[in-house]
Amino acid sequence: MAATPEKPTLATPRRKAGRHRGEGQWAVGHMTPLNANEQTKRDDDGLNVRTRIETIYAHRGFDSIDGADLRGRMRWWGLYTQRKPGIDGGKTAILEPEELDDKYFMLRVRIDGGRLTTQQLRVIGEISQEFARGTADLTDRQNVQYHWIRIEDVPEIWRRLEEVGLSTTEACGDTPRVILGSPVAGIAENEIIDGSWAIDEIQRRFIGNPDFSNLPRKFKSAVSGSPQLDVAHEINDIAFVGVNHPEHGPGFDLWVGGGLSTNPKLGVRLGAWVPLDEVPDVYGGVIGIFRDYGYRRLRTRARLKFLVADWGAEKFRQILEDEYLERKLIDGPAPKQPTGIWRDHLGVHRQKDGRFYVGFAPRVGRVDGTTLTKIAEVADAHGSGRLRTTAEQKMIVLDVEESQVESLVAGLEGLDLRVNASPFRRGTMACTGIEFCKLAIVETKARGASLIDELERRIPEFDDPITININGCPNACARIQVADIGLKGQLMLDDNGNQVEGFQVHLGGALGLEAGFGRKVRGLKVTSAELPDYVERVLKRFQAEREDGER
Ligand code: SF4
Repeated sequence: MAATPEKPTLATPRRKAGRHRGEGQWAVGHMTPLNANEQTKRDDDGLNVRTRIETIYAHRGFDSIDGADLRGRMRWWGLYTQRKPGIDGGKTAILEPEELDDKYFMLRVRIDGGRLTTQQLRVIGEISQEFARGTADLTDRQNVQYHWIRIEDVPEIWRRLEEVGLSTTEACGDTPRVILGSPVAGIAENEIIDGSWAIDEIQRRFIGNPDFSNLPRKFKSAVSGSPQLDVAHEINDIAFVGVNHPEHGPGFDLWVGGGLSTNPKLGVRLGAWVPLDEVPDVYGGVIGIFRDYGYRRLRTRARLKFLVADWGAEKFRQILEDEYLERKLIDGPAPKQPTGIWRDHLGVHRQKDGRFYVGFAPRVGRVDGTTLTKIAEVADAHGSGRLRTTAEQKMIVLDVEESQVESLVAGLEGLDLRVNASPFRRGTMACTGIEFCKLAIVETKARGASLIDELERRIPEFDDPITININGCPNACARIQVADIGLKGQLMLDDNGNQVEGFQVHLGGALGLEAGFGRKVRGLKVTSAELPDYVERVLKRFQAEREDGER
């Protein structure tokens, strides 16, 4: 394990005299691991598994991998074992993890701020074709995920990624995950403030840093100075949201304690305004609180949202100021109502330098290595070589001259990547699902893609913003609780009494300043086969009966 310096600093766990087991909070002296995950992290830092992968596992193969590394520490480098093909959702909860494990991995590439060059995208596409059977999904956290990765190929994949400035460091695990950033940072005409510098600085100081590589659970973060509120700030552990302070000018409003999954909570404002150059320090204070005071007894209560809910915003801010920053934060205003309902930046938009950015949509984030390579080619031919991924499973080409826009749009549409997308193509997201995810109960990606096609065919006149989010299990990787129509995968009985795949329906969730969770309508379930009929009925009824301005 990494040595821990004695003098308490931002980077040092605080330890006081122990009292009782409590919640396993280090800051009150509960340093003894209270569950197997905590023990694994105590036994060895997840970051150290890289050396074993490079020197042992990649040479000796899958069967040589230590169990605690396989199902624990490898996540610190973005690696999860994927689900063995052909195991149905009914077995998910019954089988032991090793029975569900395939000998291949999912590998997540972190793309902080969603910022990519065409050179990087080409490398991502080539790796997909060479090592991942062509797979590549855009996630709703601006990452790219591969499947079918062999342990033997991981060192070469890392070499190629790192050669172009990409990495998989702490893409998963109980770590500071990818930092979401506005996909139009630095270019949007209506931007309040560009947070890119802060993202770079957070990356430099905190990612891959052994002082922050043993957190109670994952730590999700977001920085956006866009008035479109485009990074789902309400559901991150920490978020910095662009605001104009009446005296101090542009800066960020600080939010903490958001998160979905089985106990969803929206983040709360601390009422503090943070200037750009102080964002990394405040991030350091909040992640320090999480590391030191976060609950470690039960993994189901270990996310920062539980601590924030117990403490409340006032106490949280006070501890942050008194124990971590050692100064007061400046009070500040809340963000304004978003400038548009869509937050995905799809379509053609003028940049502040007079050029244009062009956002486009695959279906439910699913692309492939060949397509990514072609996107890089099209982007190179029309832009400056810069692209972005979004938190809605979409992409954007930046810096396009007006004379090039039409040709770029035609090139993208030719790849079945819609710039002028239907509300269904824009607003439908799906998680990984049973194809590769060991926790999944139902299929999601193909279901989502066919739902889009069906709805486009059945109700082409529908043109309201709508979000339809599909999860393969009760976790919330595709944010079902904050969608207009959220679909949570489960098994159910059809009319003939047969067990089939289906979804529990949540209705009326939202993000933005009217953020709230959808209502789980008691008993409202729909089989996968009936899904297009059901959604069509809901949308037609909504159109027929809604009041003015109602979403
Ligand atoms: Fe897997 Fe469930 Fe997350 Fe979907 S929501 S990716 S099925 S854990």
